[in-house]
Amino acid sequence: MKNGAVRAHGASRKKIALRFFSKHRPPPAMKCCEGGVRTKFLGKSYMILDAFIHQINNQVLEMDCIFCKIAAGVIPCFKIYEDENTLAFLDVAPCADGHTLIIPKKHSDAFVEMSPEESGRLFEAVNIVSNQIMDKMENITGLTIGMNTYETAGQTVMHTHVHIFPRFKGDGGGTTHSIVHSAKSSDPEHLKKISEKLTK
Ligand code: AMP
Ligand code: ZN
Repeated sequence: MKNGAVRAHGASRKKIALRFFSKHRPPPAMKCCEGGVRTKFLGKSYMILDAFIHQINNQVLEMDCIFCKIAAGVIPCFKIYEDENTLAFLDVAPCADGHTLIIPKKHSDAFVEMSPEESGRLFEAVNIVSNQIMDKMENITGLTIGMNTYETAGQTVMHTHVHIFPRFKGDGGGTTHSIVHSAKSSDPEHLKKISEKLTK
């Protein structure tokens, strides 16, 4: 590693990178190169490793995560709501008018990797934004709220997010019950076994 390189571990170098990124968004004069990006700060050249995770205002930003970049203001979005921990913006490929994504600003790959406290704050925002959408969208008569968690469930962006789909009378959409039909049985004995497994 050459002089001036920023490593993921190393407080003073981390501070330098933090200062840099809090002043320049998006960072100017960044050149992509193998393993990261090279940039100039105070006359010195710095290598920011791909794996390097830095913080802006307590946000954890992963350089290769599109929603972290949106949360940091590096990539634009159509913002609907923001608070200290949460950001809501329109989905770029909407399934319905007003299709909104709500993300925690702090990176986690998926919902189950958040702490209960963090997920509580996320769902406070989901409630606020749901009411905002119900109040402001014309002719809206309902909502479907959901999360695809991990690839099997269809998650394509690996930064926790909640979808809010506005629903309109006669929109032809389905219900959450239309997502999967893989249950082996609805027999009470079968349900009992599963409940025991889940509570053991
Ligand atoms: P999921 O399949 O649950 O991971 O959903 C990811 C969603 O993110 C999709 O509905 C995409 O259309 C949406 N998406 C991807 N990139 C962006 C972006 N830059 N801005 C807004 N929405 C995005
Ligand atoms: Zn992220």
